[in-house]
Amino acid sequence: MVNPFSMNCYIYYDEVSKESVIIDPGAFSQSEKDSIANFITDNGLKIRYIINTHGHIDHILGNVFAKDTFKVPIYMHKDDEFLITYVNEQARFFGLDFPPPPPVDEFITEDTVLKVNGTELKFIHTPGHSPGSVCIIDDKTKTVFCGDLVFKNSIGRTDLQGGDINILLNSVKNKLFKVCTNDYKLNPGHLETTDVGTEKKFNPFLKSLK
Ligand SMILES: [Zn+2]
Repeated sequence: MVNPFSMNCYIYYDEVSKESVIIDPGAFSQSEKDSIANFITDNGLKIRYIINTHGHIDHILGNVFAKDTFKVPIYMHKDDEFLITYVNEQARFFGLDFPPPPPVDEFITEDTVLKVNGTELKFIHTPGHSPGSVCIIDDKTKTVFCGDLVFKNSIGRTDLQGGDINILLNSVKNKLFKVCTNDYKLNPGHLETTDVGTEKKFNPFLKSLK
């Protein structure tokens, strides 16, 4: 968990080959940067890709650090590129000061597949919290990194630029819940890990979706 927004940065790696991706490297303080870098060094990991689930400031403010440290391409959906362009406004809105993030290297589409050793990471476009929000899915381990689409017992806020509650609920119902069965683990951008079945059953925002 990093930065003043308590955002979950994930390092997802193959234990044998040590191939890894870093998801939303939102490190803000030097000690956060050090702890991420040390974790990677201590475990002998090789970061292959930087992936942003979306372009909000808390998720991208570590992109400079990650790009400088790992020197690998940054992936994000094109529909959130405007958030990077207007990052200064985002920063002012939240009273933060930080260096402008580097440009996105590759735009994620639903055809994007990132190979991490024997694992293939695929993507679904799940707008609503932001226009370019995506979920990252590993079918092999039934693992989803869902950004700020769904949280345990809650959903992402939709009052920021480009947010829309109906689009978000549609993304959950017709994308996430269609593609992922109840046993898929959900690793959200904030708060605790959960799974599709639990959120279908107990999430007050999603119970009526079916
Ligand atoms: Zn967000």
